[in-house]
Amino acid sequence: MVDLKRQYLKIKDEVDQAIQTVIDTTAFINGPQVKQFANALETYLQVKHVIPCANGTDALQIAMMALGLKPGDEVITPSFTYIATVEVVGLLGLKPVFCEVDPKTFTMDPASLEAMITPQTKAIVPVHLYGQAANMDAIMAIAKKHQLFVIEDNAQGIGGYYTGQDGIRRANGTIGDIGSTSFFPSKNLGCYGDGGALYTNDDALAEKIRMVANHGQRQKYVHEMVGCNSRLDTMQAAILLVKLKHLDTYCAARRAVAHFYNQVFSDHPNIEIPYEASNAYHVYHQYTVKLNGVNRDQVKKKLEEKGIPSMIYYPIPAHRQKMFEAFDMGNLEMKNTDELTAQVISLPIHTEMQEDELNYIAENFLSIVNELAVQKTEAALNV
Ligand SMILES: *Cc1c(COP(=O)(O)O)cnc(C)c1O
Repeated sequence: MVDLKRQYLKIKDEVDQAIQTVIDTTAFINGPQVKQFANALETYLQVKHVIPCANGTDALQIAMMALGLKPGDEVITPSFTYIATVEVVGLLGLKPVFCEVDPKTFTMDPASLEAMITPQTKAIVPVHLYGQAANMDAIMAIAKKHQLFVIEDNAQGIGGYYTGQDGIRRANGTIGDIGSTSFFPSKNLGCYGDGGALYTNDDALAEKIRMVANHGQRQKYVHEMVGCNSRLDTMQAAILLVKLKHLDTYCAARRAVAHFYNQVFSDHPNIEIPYEASNAYHVYHQYTVKLNGVNRDQVKKKLEEKGIPSMIYYPIPAHRQKMFEAFDMGNLEMKNTDELTAQVISLPIHTEMQEDELNYIAENFLSIVNELAVQKTEAALNV
């Protein structure tokens, strides 16, 4: 699905030197590169504060703790997401509430979101799924109307941006109260291990976030609240400092791959190509299509036979996961979400794909879908 080796080889000298510097100075924890990277990312995102942490899941947890959410408070997220978005809601004793996604963008559906709001609702977590910003204008308007916090789960959308109705272009994750991201190796800005960060334009919130991520202390050995220990390793920060300079190129490379696939698959009766909202710069963390009229799992199996990896992001909606069985949400009606979990498939996409690979994947995918569609039509005609 990704080729991190090829990407590394292109920046090997710079990365190797950055790692060596950290080792030579033995500043493994909170070395100067951590602050340097946070500052560089602030400039890149044009946000006031970037607070690095250990991973994207921690970032979400820290965000909810810094906002002072209390057990029983309701947090609304899309059910169609990576489990980390909602797992932390459960971990903190908050109540997960799920809303539908838009059938075109696969991101949070504002109408469904508003329908789920109760007096207990405290926060909303839109997810910039696959690298495309959710409908932030509508979501922010709803948040303002009901006085709710907005945490943007930007683990998949770093490098992307969104142009609001006010005409201002903002980086994904810098629109709500807090943005969270992940530097997991395969993410658009990935390090060589685990890493994450939070962003905010709010000074007081930034201070709270720093405190939560550092054992609830502002001053060493003075613990004002229960926090956690969540840091970005200096080594990872040093690598990220090198890679951040290439992020725009990486995003452009991903978009080129997506647009190549789009052009091959467009107008196909069984393949719904990704929809790009005109005001969102989609950075294609995943290239995901929706299949109609063919069995998705058979397509996946036949791709495998051709040596082509594919993935299902995500096969089970969050509200039907056993971890939330206590909330008894298994019977919720979620038509769009259910359809997507049964019909989406993601093809390989990364920054170093070569033309022959793209052709091989696209041609085989097309012929497999065609073959299965014909079989299905023939079977139907025989009945
Ligand atoms: C990857 C991811 C996370 C979690 O990030 P980790 O660094 O793996 O903890 C959270 N939300 C979404 C949508 C993700 O894709």
